[in-house]
Amino acid sequence: NGSGVINFSAGPSKLPEKVMEKANSELLNYRGTGHSVLEMSHRSAEFSQIIHEAESTLRELVGIPANYHVLFLQGGGSGQFSAIPLNLLQPGKTADYIVTGTWSAKAAKEAEKYGKVHRVIADVEKHVGVPCTTKWTTNPDAAYLHYCDNETIHGIEFPFVPESDGPPIVCDMSSNFLSRPIDVTKFGLIYAGAQKNIGCAGVTVVIVRDDLVGHALKECPTILNYKEQAACNSLYNTPPSYSIYIMGLVLQWVKEQGGVAAMERKSAAKSELIYDTIRRSNGFYVCPIEDKFQSRMNITFRIGSGKCTDELEKRFVQEAGKVGMKQLKGHRSIGGIRVSCYNAIHLEEVQVLVNFMQAFQRENT
Ligand code: PMP
Repeated sequence: NGSGVINFSAGPSKLPEKVMEKANSELLNYRGTGHSVLEMSHRSAEFSQIIHEAESTLRELVGIPANYHVLFLQGGGSGQFSAIPLNLLQPGKTADYIVTGTWSAKAAKEAEKYGKVHRVIADVEKHVGVPCTTKWTTNPDAAYLHYCDNETIHGIEFPFVPESDGPPIVCDMSSNFLSRPIDVTKFGLIYAGAQKNIGCAGVTVVIVRDDLVGHALKECPTILNYKEQAACNSLYNTPPSYSIYIMGLVLQWVKEQGGVAAMERKSAAKSELIYDTIRRSNGFYVCPIEDKFQSRMNITFRIGSGKCTDELEKRFVQEAGKVGMKQLKGHRSIGGIRVSCYNAIHLEEVQVLVNFMQAFQRENT
């Protein structure tokens, strides 16, 4: 954006320059209508076209079959932590949750308010990967099996889709959606908040198979009810219209870049560059996550070993900040450094960071 700042935020995060320019050019007068999307009725012909195009581009990019609804909802990923059990967890049934980090733990805890939850892997003191599937205690009669594809705080990403022995798979893809091709037919439901890879905060994408819709608990709020929202194309009430518009621009941008396969190649190159720098640092940088589960989106590491770690990490964040690299501090709950490399981050920007990491190591050893 010409400011010299590189924004490695975990979310809300960097948007593609082209999207920002387009939104800027259309802000005051949307495509000759004489008014802004910000001021537009959500029932207008112009907005109908915006939401319709966003859905069709998303269906095309991800390959969403016709028997899946696409919903654009509010409440973020956290809203779905409640909506999922409220829509899918019938009385008397149990829901299985695979807990691999903070977000899947939160999802499981929220679901407990509405029904019975079973955690399929034993509690661990520290999350460093996905425990071996042979140790999972899944229940073939569960209402669904929930997992988080990418744990944003720890930097743990699933390299596979869990196998289910019956229950539909429900997946939180908030922080890696659109970063690799997926086979939607393996899932009952996929959800993702927009503010990382799909756009800005305010809208949450829910992709849900049609047979899972229509079984909500009677106390499920209407705005969270998939059947009600599907019946009115996500326009039960005023939607987050500007966020849907920005999402449409991002989806168009992903398409122009070559789609999700191109995003996958780019993500692999960017994350590999950083993990390789960590591996070659002779233990100066240490990624706490097991190799197989290291996230391509959120790369976490500690600096130095032992007593000077906190001091070095503080200095790393400060000095990186001085040369324009922002938001590198790890989540307050676990500390360390976290580099978030969503789709809008360029390989060249990661190269700048890697050069800085190498220089920082030389100066501090
Ligand atoms: N799931 C994941 C994987 C996340 O990273 C986040 C937010 N960082 C959430 C859920 C919660 O999203 P929100 O803040 O939109 O409620």
